[in-house]
Amino acid sequence: HAKLAGRDTICFHDDATQAVMEARNETRRDLRLALQRGEFRLVYQLQYDADHRPLGAEALIRWQHPSRGMVSPAEFIPLAEESGLIVPLGDWVLEQACRQLVAWQQQAATAHLTLAVNVSARQFKEPDFVERIERVLTASGANPHRLKLELTESSLLDDVEAGIDKMRRLKRLGIRFALDDFGTGYSSLQYLKRLPLDQIKIDQSFVNDLLLSGDDMAIVRTIIAMGVSLQLEVVAEGVETAHQLGWLVEAGCHVFQGYYFCKPLPIDQIELPLAPIAVS
Ligand code: C2E
Ligand code: MG
Ligand code: MG
Ligand code: MG
Repeated sequence: HAKLAGRDTICFHDDATQAVMEARNETRRDLRLALQRGEFRLVYQLQYDADHRPLGAEALIRWQHPSRGMVSPAEFIPLAEESGLIVPLGDWVLEQACRQLVAWQQQAATAHLTLAVNVSARQFKEPDFVERIERVLTASGANPHRLKLELTESSLLDDVEAGIDKMRRLKRLGIRFALDDFGTGYSSLQYLKRLPLDQIKIDQSFVNDLLLSGDDMAIVRTIIAMGVSLQLEVVAEGVETAHQLGWLVEAGCHVFQGYYFCKPLPIDQIELPLAPIAVS
């Protein structure tokens, strides 16, 4: 069966596929208007340390389609990448995220929180990517030290040098970097060592089956060991059970995110501590 999954889709030319392709073309057309119509919003998923203290959140985009309801980013981000719409859409995400950071910065209880923003490969490869980020930071007044950018291996694939250069320039402003979906690509330790990263995020597919699969346990242990040896923070995403969390804490993982703690939520539904943690 054909899946609405973007580039990797295998095409069988039957009626069902025809329908799928038409649906996708319609999505493409609608995407172009969605930004003007204000159909996107961000939801936030908190990230915690091993003591269950919130460290910050990841911003995740949602598309409230007028007739189709909620469309998953897994479906529309690849289409937005193809058409180049990801560039203005990415700017919009960053603007919203920075506004949220400013709101947090204004209250002592939340001033320490970081916000991670997903950056797609096409967006990162724009020649003026660094300038775009600088512009949004300046316009919003968000503290760059609280902003984290999540890249994937594909963001860096075809021009590693240019990518590293952009990362360095942004790091000079205080921005931090996470490598998302780690373990699903082909990064060698040699390559990883060259990237000015702060975090690696273990792909949720390894976390999901963690306690069912000896292979996944071995992979996760290896990723954690690799991260620790490169002095990177290791984030586990897709943590759904106390059992998984316990195993990951024991294995030395640093940051945790997943339905066990909370789903991605609209900002007004996010529960944060009301008072700052007392400083002794
Ligand atoms: P991602 O960055 O790896 O985000 C993690 C995904 O896992 C999110 O799906 C999140 O809702 C989901 N998730 C979190 N905790 C759990 C859990 O415990 N169990 C399970 N089963 N899933 C969990 P979502 O929001 O559908 O996003 C999917 C992908 O779309 C993201 O993967 C990211 O690659 C992309 N994306 C989302 N927002 C943006 C954005 O603003 N810009 C760009 N470029 N890409 C985005
Ligand atoms: Mg992410
Ligand atoms: Mg991920
Ligand atoms: Mg993902």
